[in-house]
Amino acid sequence: MKKILTLILSLILFSCAEKKDLTVSELSEKTGIYFNSIKDDPSELKHFFTKMPKGGDIHHHSNGTPYAEEFIQNAINDSCYINPFTYQLYSNREKAILQGDTSAVLINTLLQNRPDKKDSIIDNWSVRNYKENNRDGHDLFFSTFTKFDPAFVGYESELLSEICRRAAADNISYLETMIAAPNINDSIAKFADAGQWDSDNRALLTKLADLYTHFKDNNISKWAKANADSLDNFYTRTNKHGIDLKFQTYGLRISANQPKIFGSLILAFETATLSENVVGVNFVAPEDNANALKNYSTHMQMFGFLHEKYPQVNISLHAGELVPGKGSVKESDLKFHINEALKTARAMRIGHGVDITGEDNYEEVLRFMNKNGRAVEINLESNEVILETNTKDHPINAYRKYNVPICISSDDEGVLRTNLINQYMLLIEYVPDISYEEIKSIVFNSIRYSFLVENDKSGVLKKLKSKFEEFEKEIVKDNDQSKNP
Ligand SMILES: [Zn+2]
Repeated sequence: MKKILTLILSLILFSCAEKKDLTVSELSEKTGIYFNSIKDDPSELKHFFTKMPKGGDIHHHSNGTPYAEEFIQNAINDSCYINPFTYQLYSNREKAILQGDTSAVLINTLLQNRPDKKDSIIDNWSVRNYKENNRDGHDLFFSTFTKFDPAFVGYESELLSEICRRAAADNISYLETMIAAPNINDSIAKFADAGQWDSDNRALLTKLADLYTHFKDNNISKWAKANADSLDNFYTRTNKHGIDLKFQTYGLRISANQPKIFGSLILAFETATLSENVVGVNFVAPEDNANALKNYSTHMQMFGFLHEKYPQVNISLHAGELVPGKGSVKESDLKFHINEALKTARAMRIGHGVDITGEDNYEEVLRFMNKNGRAVEINLESNEVILETNTKDHPINAYRKYNVPICISSDDEGVLRTNLINQYMLLIEYVPDISYEEIKSIVFNSIRYSFLVENDKSGVLKKLKSKFEEFEKEIVKDNDQSKNP
């Protein structure tokens, strides 16, 4: 009944539309009425979200966004070796032997003799068919990245160009892509002595201060410059297809060697100060890994320490991407990650934030986010595959209740075989009563809470505003025409 009434109201409003130019708020209102009338029609809704400007995608990984098919092509071009059972890729035969893999074969030969193996590779380099193949989404997802890595390294600019091309086709205007230059972390790891760290009983901040001096004395700034130059080189060689592109760089959280992790973070922070293309730092790899969980508070203090040294560097953190039963999570892990990411590590944005309602005093954490403008980057499909969340247990409505700024992002478009349009489709399933105005404000959040410098941000916001005006005009015009042909 409600649907019929909305439809009638929409008919009346559209047929009464005067020929004069509508104001911005009238356009938005009419688009909202139309949106309500198609909310239950998936094909109309998909069309609507495809056309709708989507602002930025500010949480996605450069290596998780390309499709397996692109990696396969790169591997063929480079005559890589692949294990025909595990689908682990190696840049050459020597690398395979070095890692004790004597079964690896030339990918070109494998695909010539067994063309059907292409499907198996795709199913192992992404989560495609994971349910049909009885695979655990969490374990499969995290296993893909090391498997196809040799087909990512060396192809960064080509893959980024394709990422930008697809984003432009999907009406996205800004990408904030997580990326790191290969090998440099390994170069600084030799200065990271884990033995001394473990036997040193001094206060953590004292240890960090000494370690920081140690890395500086061993010329970490030189490596940061090389890192920034590599990223700038990727940036320059990328065809952006009209997209405003920026990078976040990152440290890896799963090593057992804490000085190595700290070194990778100093490298990331310094790199961000050296390149205008790098607008922030992040922390990646599974948060529910045993080492990551055990050292979580130490890592947050590392971020806090580096925030004091480099206050101009923006921080976004994967935090609270946890559910009981996945990875090595214990109940006690669910109580503090988001709070510490915000208050100790000084994160400006939280990636995922799925376990928020399990945190101690979670309402206070949500109020803090609201009051201090700390956004949450929500990745619905990623959460469904990796954490098995669903419309009933995902905390998106807790964030909405406390007016925490929400952004919708894709996380790993290629590995998840999805796109940002599908995330908006899912948003309707998770929040069926959501209004067009709220969706629009979520889109604007993806620029407002981005790490663009103020000048760039106001330019991108202005462009987004006019894109919305065009989009709404088109929606209203199409409906006028369909009502009065
Ligand atoms: Zn992520």
